[in-house]
Amino acid sequence: MINIVIFGPPGAGKGTQSIRLKEKFGLVHISTGDVFRALDPESDLAKLAKSYSDKGNLVPDDITINILESEVAKHPNEDGVIYDGFPRTEAQAEALDKFLKTKGTSITIALALEVKEDELRERLKNRAIDSGRPDDADPAIIQNRIDVYKQQTAPVADYYKAQNKYIGVNGIGSIEDIFERLCDAVQAHA
Ligand code: ADP
Repeated sequence: MINIVIFGPPGAGKGTQSIRLKEKFGLVHISTGDVFRALDPESDLAKLAKSYSDKGNLVPDDITINILESEVAKHPNEDGVIYDGFPRTEAQAEALDKFLKTKGTSITIALALEVKEDELRERLKNRAIDSGRPDDADPAIIQNRIDVYKQQTAPVADYYKAQNKYIGVNGIGSIEDIFERLCDAVQAHA
């Protein structure tokens, strides 16, 4: 069983690479961002989540942890999971460890995609053309997401470093080259 956390700032390529890693290693891919976007838009939960995500802020931990746990529960016989966009706070990282422990498993590695800030801004601006996501369309919201990442999510790196599970991977280059780097990291560790 391989459980991967894919970690990195918005626009680092987590979703793109997760889809490839999922295929290669036979994993379930859980993206909390995708789960929020897939909620029935008329539901109270979707409206609440959107009130945070549209501004580029994090959805509160209790809601996010609940939604993550119910998503994992939908895949009882999985060979492993790739967690994309979760955990984004230290409280989420601790909750994930606790939750996996109850299932007799744990995180194998945290793969961190490293991309410079000006490149992130450029990528998110370009993504807005196709994604239709309100949080991609506005430079002020993009900047807020990067700032929220630095303040609330970047410290999660230390959480995995302390467990010797953190691997930084250069996130600049072709999708294929970056994928190869990630696969090498998984194979060296798993
Ligand atoms: P990106 O990585 O491009 O910022 P995501 O699709 O992962 O985009 O997330 C979109 C939004 O969904 C986030 O800005 C946030 O509001 C919300 N979200 C996703 N995952 C989490 C999480 N683990 N904790 C809190 N909020 C989250």
